[in-house]
Amino acid sequence: MSASSSYDVIVIGAGIIGAAIAWELNSAGRRVTIVDRGDPGMGCSYGNAAHFATEQIFPIASPAIFRDIPRLLVARNSPLTFNAHSLLSTLRWSLRFLRASNRSSYTRGTRALAALNAGALSDWQALLSTIGQAQLLHRTGTLQLAESRRGVRELAAMQVALSEHEVPSRMVGRDELPDYLPQLPDLAQGGLYFPETAYCLDPYLFFRTVFDACLANGVSFHHANVSALDDSNRPGVTVVTDSARLQANTVIVAGGVHSGELLRPLGHRIPLIAERGYHLLLPHTRPTLKLPVTLHERQFIMTPLQSGIRLAGTVEFASPDDPPSMQRAQMLYTQANEVFGGLDATGSSQWMGCRPTLPDYLPVIDAPDNNRSLIVATGNHHLGLTQAATVARCVRHLAQGTAPPVNLADFRLSRF
Ligand SMILES: Cc1cc2nc3c(=O)[nH]c(=O)nc-3n(C[C@H](O)[C@H](O)[C@H](O)COP(=O)(O)OP(=O)(O)OC[C@H]3O[C@@H](n4cnc5c(N)ncnc54)[C@H](O)[C@@H]3O)c2cc1C
Repeated sequence: MSASSSYDVIVIGAGIIGAAIAWELNSAGRRVTIVDRGDPGMGCSYGNAAHFATEQIFPIASPAIFRDIPRLLVARNSPLTFNAHSLLSTLRWSLRFLRASNRSSYTRGTRALAALNAGALSDWQALLSTIGQAQLLHRTGTLQLAESRRGVRELAAMQVALSEHEVPSRMVGRDELPDYLPQLPDLAQGGLYFPETAYCLDPYLFFRTVFDACLANGVSFHHANVSALDDSNRPGVTVVTDSARLQANTVIVAGGVHSGELLRPLGHRIPLIAERGYHLLLPHTRPTLKLPVTLHERQFIMTPLQSGIRLAGTVEFASPDDPPSMQRAQMLYTQANEVFGGLDATGSSQWMGCRPTLPDYLPVIDAPDNNRSLIVATGNHHLGLTQAATVARCVRHLAQGTAPPVNLADFRLSRF
């Protein structure tokens, strides 16, 4: 790649969103180059919970947050926290988050996420089939497990709310739980089963399969830091890297939590925060899980990966560059052990990732300048793995100027 190079499509970001978009645009006959400053797949897409979570249609920005947040902020081992180093920098985002937590935004956001998630599994199935890897999607469904009567009531209410959006789920009584979870913990009271969800055996290898298929089919990869975007040389956008200026017909910004820095000089403000989450991988432990299980009251998931059981979750609002608080990964172990007992932590490993999150918990999927030169696809918070194939289909339509499969009105950048 030289200073004089010109390109058809440049995708900034080799995460799961960028890789799925690259595949989709390449399949549509565009010549695609992916640019990333790191090793492909090593951002947030590396260590997630591997759950295709189509049932997660309720934005965290909700009226309930006003009731829950005081308790969550003071609770020991809380699933939600603010990083002390970043309080000032996260303050503005938090105010927007609280503003977005009103009833009407929440109702609109729920409808929008339900529409985006509705085709997520079939879009992944179709994408994976084209690369001969449909078996990567394990369509076992997932279980949310309650440890208290109150938790069971909350799950029953969730089922009603999900049914209003045609998301299938089924209440599971304590007697039936062993069908889903043979090593049933004593604390278990009941659960909610989501049949139309899936998981994969390793999110990094899943990413790598899509990324490698891109490379094998003509997509190129360029290792470089993008320092700026310049749209003064229209039509098209110039991608400025540390060593070159790359003119492209179409630039897709899929840089995860760092996308905002690239868009600001073009006059687009996108209030992304690093909503940090953690995982702890237990390579040698029981219980033997047949499917991912979320502990409802504790708000984290246990997924049976090929390398062990991954405990993943927690929400920590912070700046992306703050040092990780790895005790939050250890906290997952303490919590899981309280439920299942005797978990073997030998050889465990821990990880932190920065979910790219916007205050209303909706992504941006948009061509903000109303032309096909610049397309933004980011902000998929807890759902980037789930939504990537659908986002990629939408981006293809934005790039072609045709009607996308999902109404993108709620995902516009101009809402900020
Ligand atoms: C603990 C945890 C569990 C999760 N579990 C799930 C789950 O089960 N299911 C689910 O659907 N989602 C889950 N998620 C969320 C999911 O992982 C993210 O939504 C998704 O990975 C975001 O993908 P991305 O491609 O947008 O970002 P990333 O994977 O972060 O990729 C962005 C890429 O852009 C590159 N980049 C950024 N700026 C520049 C620049 N200026 N120049 C060059 N390169 C640049 C970065 O290096 C990076 O490689 C989880 C997240 C966490 C933290």
